[in-house]
Amino acid sequence: MTLVSMKEMLLKAKKEKYAVGQYNINNLESAQAFLQAAEEERAPIILAASDRIVDYLGGFKTIVGMVKGLIEEMEILVPVALHLDHGMSVERCKKAIDAGFTSVMIDGSHYPIDENIAMTKQVVEYAHSRQVSVEAEVGTIGGIEDGLVGGIRYADPNDCLRIVKEAQIDALAPALGSVHGTYRGEPKLGFDQMREISELTGVPLVLHGGSGIPVYQIQKAIDLGHAKINVNTECIKAWTRAIRKVLADDKLVYEPKVIIAPAKEAMIEIVKRKMREFKTSNKV
Ligand code: 13P
Repeated sequence: MTLVSMKEMLLKAKKEKYAVGQYNINNLESAQAFLQAAEEERAPIILAASDRIVDYLGGFKTIVGMVKGLIEEMEILVPVALHLDHGMSVERCKKAIDAGFTSVMIDGSHYPIDENIAMTKQVVEYAHSRQVSVEAEVGTIGGIEDGLVGGIRYADPNDCLRIVKEAQIDALAPALGSVHGTYRGEPKLGFDQMREISELTGVPLVLHGGSGIPVYQIQKAIDLGHAKINVNTECIKAWTRAIRKVLADDKLVYEPKVIIAPAKEAMIEIVKRKMREFKTSNKV
């Protein structure tokens, strides 16, 4: 299966009331783990690279080469989209698209809404003529992600409607109380605003900060129009826990493969659980 955009994937998910997970790539083994989980669960999947770690991962072309190579070598048949998470500029989004990403997020959420819309429009123009899907963010999702720290600012429904209509985006991430990284106490998502924004815009919604949200809130978010849920922190915590255990249990171990293999298995388990919670399993 070649890489696909997330447009059709998300429209189908919204209609059938499930959510496709976006899992952030942090290295080769994480990409292998996500693809293996998706194939075994018969689930569509979005693999993402956060713009802030694209260079760490070897650059846009390396990421595309790695994911395409794995899809072929692992004989992956489920639909896979390769998405740029939190694209930092119009230029970075274009660079990702030129390299072969099939979806991009332009994160203009830290700019005033008029500038956010203008940036998003430019990306949509470039992306749609190349069959690439576009996600935009309104308001501010709080927490820490790849070194960036931010507070929560709820999305304004009118801004959401404007960006959907004026920029013609494929998916909208409205900030509704979720945070990147670890939650302090139980997350409180703004379900009233979620319902309002979903009804107003009609577009598939994206939930950032999907780690650590109780299943009942996840399922309510799906019922209210979320078709994509982003997960990173739970995967990387499981990864680190597994590696700490290997190193603590065996003081003499030094082979990377031996140290990392249990971490990859731990990620596969987390992603499969998410796929069941998001009701993405057996949707292919
Ligand atoms: P978490 O790291 O909180 O799972 O959030 C991931 C995310 O939203 C990536 O954009």
